Amino acid sequence: MSKRFAWLKKFALLLELCLASGLSPAHAAGFNGQSYVPLADWARASGLKCFWLKRGDEIVATNRTTRLVFDKYSRMAEVNGINVALSFPVAADRGTLLIAQMDLNTAIRPLLFLPRFTDAKRITTICLDPGHGGKDTGNHTFWHSEKTYTLALALELRDQLQKAGFNIILTRSKDTYVELPDRPALANRRGADLFVSLHFNATPTGKDDVEGPQTYCITPVGASSTDAQGEGANFGATAANRCENKSLLLAYQMQKSLVQSLRVPDRGVRRARYAVLRDAMMPAILIEGGYMTHPVERKKIYDAAYRRQMAQAMVKGILAYQRLVSPPPPPTWPTTNRPVVKNPPATWTGTNKVSIPKRAP
Ligand SMILES: [Zn+2]
Repeated sequence: MSKRFAWLKKFALLLELCLASGLSPAHAAGFNGQSYVPLADWARASGLKCFWLKRGDEIVATNRTTRLVFDKYSRMAEVNGINVALSFPVAADRGTLLIAQMDLNTAIRPLLFLPRFTDAKRITTICLDPGHGGKDTGNHTFWHSEKTYTLALALELRDQLQKAGFNIILTRSKDTYVELPDRPALANRRGADLFVSLHFNATPTGKDDVEGPQTYCITPVGASSTDAQGEGANFGATAANRCENKSLLLAYQMQKSLVQSLRVPDRGVRRARYAVLRDAMMPAILIEGGYMTHPVERKKIYDAAYRRQMAQAMVKGILAYQRLVSPPPPPTWPTTNRPVVKNPPATWTGTNKVSIPKRAP
């Protein structure tokens, strides 16, 4: 049994023990300091219908536009076809599945019910961070270094994003070593609107059957990161937690675009307090584009045509995110017969300036 699975199982069993001893979910919340709610109750209150896919084990909450799938004891939920990591496993109480309130607040609601982003600002500058470089090779598989392919992908992505009209900053444009804290620091200093770190993955043991991309964003305060086996929940807030909902949304749109465009297995949106993520003052994600330890996927990673497709998928992901968070386009007036604006917009911070016609005397 893997260490991670053992931790999940232990957590779930302890929670069930609390519940079996007659404690309500609210009391069970005392365990690990988490408050749990019945999934079906939350779904009903949110306008979703619930039904079992596997009685007692797998539940679907759905309506005309949304489909959520939750599995007993699992820390991975499916949100409209894309896997999203939860901070705490789904629990069970005598046939009822329960979800941590924190996961509703930090993983499910921000994706389903988009908040009104009062600080909406058009995205103009994106900082791309090719992972590793110089003395830090990253993964090294059969004479191929990760640092070579993260840079090649970043240069391709830079060109495509520039064509789409964005300004691009690179944390490195050559095979040079850049300290981890210097990467988000550069993005902060230059006022980037997004930070995207690019990596390729490898299994620690060289196991060769794992493939597909995964996209990381910052871990919520009070939770442990997806791959941390329950450790680090007391890490505290980082600079990146200030815009964690936007980072989650960017990670989700990116993962969705990669999985759907490249038709590859979905390794999910995940959470981590990576050094390059936690100091970023703007929405920030880290993409593991695929596994260099997988015999088929690694050949694709080494192929420029595939990296071009991957960059196209990334541009699509960024544009999808932009549509969700950017301010609405300013009104456009016809060039003749301009109407008199009685209540002109007080401020407009977007790049497209609106000229307000003068009032008639
Ligand atoms: Zn890496």
